[in-house]
Amino acid sequence: MFSGLESFGTQEENGVRSTTLWARLLGLANAVVEDVEFDETEECVVVSVRPRKASKRRCGRCGKRCPGYDQGEGRRRWRALDLGTIQTLVEADSPRVRCPDHGVVTAQVPWARHGAGHTYGFDDTAAWLVTHCSKSAVRDLLRVAWRTVGAIVTRVVADAEEATDRFANLRRIGIDEISYKRGHRYLTVVVDHDTGVLLWAHPGRDQKTLEKFFDRLGDDRCAEITLVSADAAEWIANVVAARCQNAELCLDPFHIVQWATKALDEVRREVWNTARRDGQKAVARDLKGARYALWKNPEDLTERQAAKLADIAQTNKRLYRAYLLKEQLRQVFVLKGAAGIALLDKWLKWARRCRIPPFVKLAKSITTHRAGIEAALTHGLSNARVESVNTKLRLLTRIAFGFRSPEALIALAMLDLGGLCPPLPGRTPA
Ligand SMILES: [Zn+2]
Repeated sequence: MFSGLESFGTQEENGVRSTTLWARLLGLANAVVEDVEFDETEECVVVSVRPRKASKRRCGRCGKRCPGYDQGEGRRRWRALDLGTIQTLVEADSPRVRCPDHGVVTAQVPWARHGAGHTYGFDDTAAWLVTHCSKSAVRDLLRVAWRTVGAIVTRVVADAEEATDRFANLRRIGIDEISYKRGHRYLTVVVDHDTGVLLWAHPGRDQKTLEKFFDRLGDDRCAEITLVSADAAEWIANVVAARCQNAELCLDPFHIVQWATKALDEVRREVWNTARRDGQKAVARDLKGARYALWKNPEDLTERQAAKLADIAQTNKRLYRAYLLKEQLRQVFVLKGAAGIALLDKWLKWARRCRIPPFVKLAKSITTHRAGIEAALTHGLSNARVESVNTKLRLLTRIAFGFRSPEALIALAMLDLGGLCPPLPGRTPA
């Protein structure tokens, strides 16, 4: 073993300079470096430190200065960033204090988060890497288990959320749900329409879950929300109506058109079944192949699909009428505004009298949700921004596999999609 401080020279002045250098190398603020050693058995550099006087004897949870209690676990080690090619550990006493609010707790250290086994520099580097590199790159470069990365991002995000007020000046938000773990688990997700940033996510998809978001927002800020976009889920509508008195709920056009596509498919299957029952083999075969022609937007049809559609118009009036009903409803949302609302009126009159049960039923649901649909047409607000955040979030659920907690998945999402990623240590944020 050698002592780094001695090897830097015996002169007091040099010794002092090298201790500051070591502190800076490791990104240790408010800490005094006492010694540097190479641990042969562990093959790592061990830097012994102590907090500066002003940061001594503070509660690990609230930072308040408190009377000392005992020596706690004695000496403790924290992983710091590697020095060149060598793994590096910071070592210090880990005394306990008695906080009037938190009882007996381990004292705060200025180089690491409470309860963490890694320094701030290590934590922030891990969080930054996770949003920029592959899973295996992060694991191999930092020499940590993936689970550890999950714990790190959770505490980095918890800190960042405390330090920033992300819910100020919210006006237009989108609410959606996303499934993960092969559809066995759900997150409720809230996105800011004006910035496209993921604001909040929480396990579950029900009223209780969503209420937690508005609790966090507080009554005054809830009152400032003017528009909320969502699908037609009742639990969302209920909570928004109860909590945001000044907000209009805009139903996502994509979901409404999806209802029409479903209704159309019901009609196609029914016509197909009848044809099969009656032994019209050729008609049945044609209908089976017509699914995509009916689904697609007319401008995207291939020549063959267009021909198929023309065929249906000739031979199957009922199915073709269903197709036109779906297409006209889609046009409502292409037009938007007053023109869209006027077309919606016409569409409803037509659908109610069309004598095609799935579309009569659809007309009823659309009448029920009319206010939300009109709001979407008036304000031109769809859930598209939320969907795009959700698409990225879906990819993150795969990366988060192995984190073992929904909190870590949410933290990863907040780093990547919520703008909470810290800058690399020692650099000013871009
Ligand atoms: Zn405390």
